[in-house]
Amino acid sequence: MMKTKVEIIRGDITRIPVDAMVNAANSRLAGGGGVDGAIHRAGGPAIMEELNVIRQKQGGCPTGEAVVTGAGKLPARKVIHAVGPVWTGGNQNERELLALAYRNSLLRAVETGARIISFPNISTGIYGFPKKEAAKIALKTIFDFINEHPDAFDKILLVCFDEENENIYHEEMKKYPVNAKFSNNP
Ligand code: ADP
Repeated sequence: MMKTKVEIIRGDITRIPVDAMVNAANSRLAGGGGVDGAIHRAGGPAIMEELNVIRQKQGGCPTGEAVVTGAGKLPARKVIHAVGPVWTGGNQNERELLALAYRNSLLRAVETGARIISFPNISTGIYGFPKKEAAKIALKTIFDFINEHPDAFDKILLVCFDEENENIYHEEMKKYPVNAKFSNNP
C-alpha cells in the first residue's frame, strides 16, 4: 500500500501551501528568472539573505545538490534550492545530475521533517532539458525514493507551470498504476 500520494498540479508553485517548496536554483545560488525569480519575489529578501550566508560558507551549490533556507513570506516552512543541470546535448551526465537533484531534494526534505513537498519541473525552462525525458527521470527518482522510504512523506506535488509539461506528466504517471489507484481513492 503506497502511503505517499503523488499529485500533478497545474499552477504557480509559490501559491500552493506545503511544508517544503523545491526551487530550481542555479549553482551560484544567485537568484534568476523562471521559478527561481518567482520564489524570491513572492518570498521576499529573507531567502536571499540566508543564501548569502550559505554562499559565504561553501561558495555555491554544485549541480545535482540542494541547500535549504527558510521560506520568507511563502506559504511554506522551508525552501529547498536544488541545482539541476543545464542541458548541453546529453553527454555531460545531465540525466544522472537531474536524478540527483530530485533525490537530494527529497533527502533534504526528510531532514527538515517535511510531510508535504512541491517540485517544479527542474531544468525544463531556461536550462533546456527535454521535457519528456525530464518527467520520466523525475517520476522514476520520486517513486524509487518513496518505495525505499514509504513513511517519509504524505504528499508530493508535481507543479507544472505550462500545459505541455502537465500533459507529459499525466502521460508518464500512467506507468505508475499503484499511485493512480491510490489517487482515485483518497
Ligand atoms: P531551469 O533553469 O531549472 O530550467 P526555470 O525556472 O527556467 O528553471 O524552469 C523550470 C520550470 O519551472 C519550467 O518548466 C518553468 O515553466 C517552470 N516555472 C516557471 N515559473 C514557475 C512558477 N511560478 N511555478 C511553477 N513552475 C514555474
